[in-house]
Amino acid sequence: MQGLMADYPLTIDRILEHANRIYPHKRIATRLPDGTLHRYTYADLYGRVKQLANVLRSLGVKPGDRVGTFAWNTYQHLELYYAIPCSGAVCHPLNIRLFPEQLAYMVNHAEDRVVFVDATLLPAFEQVADLVDCVEHVVLFNAGEDRKTHLPNISLYETWMADADDTYEWAVTDENRAMGLCYTSGTTGKPKGALFSHRSMVLHTFGGNQANALGLVETDVVLPVVPQFHAMAWGLPYACALAGADIVMPGPHLKPEALAELIVTERVTLAGGVPTIWSELYRELKGHPRDISCIRTLLVGGSAMPRALIEAYEKELGVSVLHAWGMTELSPLGTVSRLQSNHRDLPDSEKWDVKAKQGNAAAGVEMRIVDEAGNELPWDGKTVGEVQVRGAWVVKSYYKLDSDPEHFTPDGWFRTGDVGTIDPYGYLTLTDRTKDLIKSGGEWISSVELENALMAHAGVLEAAVIAIPDEKWGERPLAVVVPTPDMGEVTVQALREYLALKVTGFWLPDQIVFVEEIPRTGVGKFDKKLLRRQYAEGRLG
Ligand code: ADP
Repeated sequence: MQGLMADYPLTIDRILEHANRIYPHKRIATRLPDGTLHRYTYADLYGRVKQLANVLRSLGVKPGDRVGTFAWNTYQHLELYYAIPCSGAVCHPLNIRLFPEQLAYMVNHAEDRVVFVDATLLPAFEQVADLVDCVEHVVLFNAGEDRKTHLPNISLYETWMADADDTYEWAVTDENRAMGLCYTSGTTGKPKGALFSHRSMVLHTFGGNQANALGLVETDVVLPVVPQFHAMAWGLPYACALAGADIVMPGPHLKPEALAELIVTERVTLAGGVPTIWSELYRELKGHPRDISCIRTLLVGGSAMPRALIEAYEKELGVSVLHAWGMTELSPLGTVSRLQSNHRDLPDSEKWDVKAKQGNAAAGVEMRIVDEAGNELPWDGKTVGEVQVRGAWVVKSYYKLDSDPEHFTPDGWFRTGDVGTIDPYGYLTLTDRTKDLIKSGGEWISSVELENALMAHAGVLEAAVIAIPDEKWGERPLAVVVPTPDMGEVTVQALREYLALKVTGFWLPDQIVFVEEIPRTGVGKFDKKLLRRQYAEGRLG
C-alpha cells in the first residue's frame, strides 16, 4: 500500500520561499572588496535572485547547464547559489586558490558555459580562461570603471540586473535534478566531481539544522568563513535561510584582525571555518584582546581541530567549539562532536578530549568502520578501520565516473579514505587518511596523532607528519615543524623527549625538520603530497 501524502519536491527554491515569507526582514551583510559593508535583507535577496534567474535565461543558460562561480563569500555569490539551481542549472563554485591548470581541468570537465567572476579575481581567472574553450560568457561583479581585460566575452553583472524583471516562476519540479557540482581539491589525487541534487541538498540542510547537528536558529548571526568555493560553504548559505539566521559575509577580508572586527561589530553567534583560521584568530586575540564571547558556536572542520586549540577557545575566550567532520562527497556534513548527557559530569579536560574527536554521525548519515577485507569492525574505541558512510546526502558515484569500486562498495557504501575508531557512544576518532598512514614494520602509525602530540608542545606552532621510505621498516615518520615565534629555541632533542612521554617508542619520528611554513593546499590543509615530493627531491631534511 502506498502512502497518501503530497508529492512535494524538495527543491532549493522552497528554502528561499520560506526565508522570504517568514524572515524577509532578516539581514545579510557583506564586507565588499573595497572594505565597505553592503547590507540588505532576505526580501532583497529574493527579488534579486528572481532577476538573476531571468539574466541566466537571457544568457542562454538551459536546464542542466553548468555555471561556474569564481568568487569570495559575498551577497552576489549568495544570489548565484540560489538563482543557478532555482533556474534549473548547476552551480559549480571554482576554488580560486588552485593553480590555473587544475582549474582549467575542472572547468573543462564540468563544461561550464558561463562563469561569474568577482572582478578582484579577474587576473587569476584570465589565466584559466586562456586554457579552456567551453566558456561562452564571463560575467563580472564588484567591477570598477577601470577594469582591463583581454577576454572577449565579458559583461557586467549589474548591467544585466538593471534590465532584468523580478518576476520569475521557479523552473525545477523534479527534486532529483542536479543543483550543484563541487570538485574535491585533489589532496589525494585527481579532482573528482560530487554532483548534488536538489533533494540531497535540501535534506542536507534539514539534517544540518537539527539541534543535535549544527542547530542553527533564527537568533543566530552566522559568519561563514569557510569559502563558498569549498564544499558549498558547508551548506551554510542554505542552512541560514531555512533557519532565518542573519548572514555576515567576509568577502576577501580573511585576515584575523578583519575577522575579529566583523565578529565584534556584527555580534556574530556562529562562525564556521577550518582550524588554521581559528588558530590565526587566536594568536591575533592574544596580541590584541577583544571580547568575542558573542560567539555561541565556533564551528570547525575540514581538518582535525587540535585539542589544545579547543581548550584555548573554551577556557580563555569563553567560546564553545563544535568540531565537525565532513567531505565534499557528503555535501559535506558527516559527524558532529557534541557532548552527550553521559559526559555531563566529566572534568573540563576530559570534555575537551571528547570535543577533539570527530563525533557522532549526524542523523541522516550512517557510518561504519571496516577492515581490509570489508568486514565491519566493533565500536570499541580501539579497533581501527576504514570509515564508510551512506545516506541521502552522500554521493553514489562521481561525475562522469561510472564504475568505481575504489570508492564505492558493492553494498552501496561510500569509502571515505579516512581511517579511525568508533567508541561505544558512537564517536568517530580519525587517526588518518588511508593515503597518509605510515606503515612501519607492518604496524600502522597515525600521522594525525603524532601531529596532535607535537602541536600540544608550546614551542610548536604547526606540525605535519609524513611517511618516508625506509629500507628496513618500509616506511618511517618524518615530522615537519614550524616553531612558535618568541618561544625561544626548541630543539629536536627536546621534542623527541616530549613525544616519548606521549607515544609508543616506534612511533617516534626518525627525523624532525624545522621549517618556516608548511605548504598548504587550496583549501588550507597541509599539503602532504607536496611535502612527500619535497622529501623525495631532497628539499626536506
Ligand atoms: P579534499 O581535502 O580531498 O579536497 P575535502 O575538502 O572534501 O576534500 O576534505 C575531506 C577530508 O578532510 C576528509 O576526508 C578528512 O580527511 C578531512 N577532514 C575533514 N574534516 C575533518 C576533521 N574534523 N578532522 C579531521 N579530518 C577532517
